[in-house]
Amino acid sequence: MNRTAAAIKIEQDVLAHNYHPLSVVVERAEGSWITDVDGKRYLDCLAGYSALNFGHGHPALLAAARAQLERATLTSRAFHNDRLGPFAAKLADLCGMHLVLPMNTGAEAVETGIKVARRWAYQVKGVPADDAEIVVAAGNFHGRTTTVVSFSTDQQARTGFGPFTPGFTVVPYDDLDALDAAVGERTAAVLVEPIQGEAGVVVPSDGYLAGIRRICDDRRALFVADEIQSGLGRVGATFACELAGVRPDIYLLGKALGGGVVPVSAVVSSRDVLGLIRPGEHGSTFGGNPLAAAVGSAVVDLLATGKYQAAARRIGDVLHRGLRDLIGHGVTAVRGVGAWAGVDIDPAIGSGRQICDALAERGVLVKDTHGSTIRFAPPLVTTDDEIRWALDRLREVLAVR
Ligand code: PLP
Repeated sequence: MNRTAAAIKIEQDVLAHNYHPLSVVVERAEGSWITDVDGKRYLDCLAGYSALNFGHGHPALLAAARAQLERATLTSRAFHNDRLGPFAAKLADLCGMHLVLPMNTGAEAVETGIKVARRWAYQVKGVPADDAEIVVAAGNFHGRTTTVVSFSTDQQARTGFGPFTPGFTVVPYDDLDALDAAVGERTAAVLVEPIQGEAGVVVPSDGYLAGIRRICDDRRALFVADEIQSGLGRVGATFACELAGVRPDIYLLGKALGGGVVPVSAVVSSRDVLGLIRPGEHGSTFGGNPLAAAVGSAVVDLLATGKYQAAARRIGDVLHRGLRDLIGHGVTAVRGVGAWAGVDIDPAIGSGRQICDALAERGVLVKDTHGSTIRFAPPLVTTDDEIRWALDRLREVLAVR
């Protein structure tokens, strides 16, 4: 048995089977490249579902982590630490907001956003106790907790996990008439992904996000933008909302906020909204720890240069042009913005999974979603030549099938 097979066998024997990974066992990674335990190299075109926007082992992020490892890693919020305040100040500034509530994972940021929106509905909007509604979009992916899957429309994510949390209304994505009809007196918030990632990189029509903003303003509801996957450079701007010229009331951030080094998530909003949360009402043992804050600060510094947003635009030009050329040659549709693409494969050629397996054999790592879609989200340090090389491998895979 080679080392790859041996490593996979151990995982299969002792791990819950809640994932079905590709048969690649990563040993080390640098920039956009991964090396497996048998020494084979792969171009990473998934980037940890956009947690690795700055690539594997970015020197500035590793330096920040290393320096902080030697100082203090965890304080809990029972005490202050000297890293958290400066990180929150920088992050609030990047978002054009006032306050930050730090958590760890994306799902926790979503849960926190829901609590904050409900609190605002009761204390500010005057919704009767326990009556607040949050309007969400079909096809959403906001995480895996019981409350979050309560408003998923993906049966695989929900079946067998009830009872579910009430207080959510689901409307079709990219449908302002449906949203307009759903938002009312009891609505605390509209919670959407500005671009739906897990659904297959679904980009809404021009004017959708601005329409949400208008409806929320008219009906006094908060606009909560889940930018956990779309935010922090991926789309060629710091936020997908920014591309649409829209400012939400609450940003939910995660993934790339920890630079692929540590889990860091955050809810970022105005003083009027986040200021409603008082001591004892919400928290997390690890949220805001100094190691996370040190890495998060370094991430915000990288984003403040604008270099990674520009790289996403450059990569996007090459990627989308190359992918569009494959339409009619095994590809039926291509969606996306910046360095982010959902590619529908002609089912006659193979499933998304089969294409991903064949690409992995040729040294390109991507992942399927929803049967026949594969997603490209390379690190923003990937070169044009590397993108072209990956596109050539995709062309080969589609041609031989
Ligand atoms: N929200 C969005 C838009 C996501 O894409 C994800 C993860 O893919 C999450 C929330 C959940 O994040 P996590 O897996 O860190 O809980």
